[in-house]
Amino acid sequence: MSAPIKAVVSDLDGVVYRGEIPMPGAVEAIAAWKTRGVPYLFVTNNASKSSEQFAAKLNGMGVDIGPEGVLTAGDAAASHIGHQFGRGTRTFVIGEKVLFEAAEREGLTVADAADVEVVLLGFDYGLNYAKLTVAVQALLNGAKLVVTNPDVLTLTSDGYEPCVGATLALLKASVPEVEPVVAGKPSPVMIREALARLGSSPEHTIMVGDQVVTDIMAGQSAGLRSFLLTTGVPARPVDGITPDAMIQTLLDIEVSGPAG
Ligand SMILES: [Mg+2]
Repeated sequence: MSAPIKAVVSDLDGVVYRGEIPMPGAVEAIAAWKTRGVPYLFVTNNASKSSEQFAAKLNGMGVDIGPEGVLTAGDAAASHIGHQFGRGTRTFVIGEKVLFEAAEREGLTVADAADVEVVLLGFDYGLNYAKLTVAVQALLNGAKLVVTNPDVLTLTSDGYEPCVGATLALLKASVPEVEPVVAGKPSPVMIREALARLGSSPEHTIMVGDQVVTDIMAGQSAGLRSFLLTTGVPARPVDGITPDAMIQTLLDIEVSGPAG
């Protein structure tokens, strides 16, 4: 018999909502977790918005949640640097304002220089040659590379635009020996940060997502049972990854609560 479920880590898009529409049962399920005192945290690879913005979107759908209930890949990347290299780590940041704020919240020393210990790479509409040059020089000097998410394309209203993974490919072309740590799914780094925030063990926590190759892979890599939310279409194992369970709504999860 498997261990009781005492905490939940969940993806947002495709699980709690799709676009602007809440998924069936999601608002009710989250309200029930809150009432029963079940710890939960939502994780997203989207690092171009803040946890405050995600919480506001959820509030608008009737989910009672604060920014502490959402962990973005940007937050997770900054936390990872804080845990691995210590607060005060000199860090060169490529990213939007929210990523700088995440770095500062973590106590990192943001520096616009090549003599840093870490390069933190995220999505940046203001990306330019000068920033890439500082990053490449820092990496050649031996700085570590921490990346928010691996996605190479972002879906937009009129097609696609290049995402962080494309910038990462450029940096790796210039500095092939660099071994980046990627926070976002399918890496387990963001899930481990989520567990640390929840104060829960992998054994008693589940990961919920709608994508096998990102959500289920990330959850299982971090040692969590990982549930695939699928609306009607029977899921097949993908790339040898099999979800631990299949659910149709968040209401299908049998949580035991913190004491259960
Ligand atoms: Mg999703």
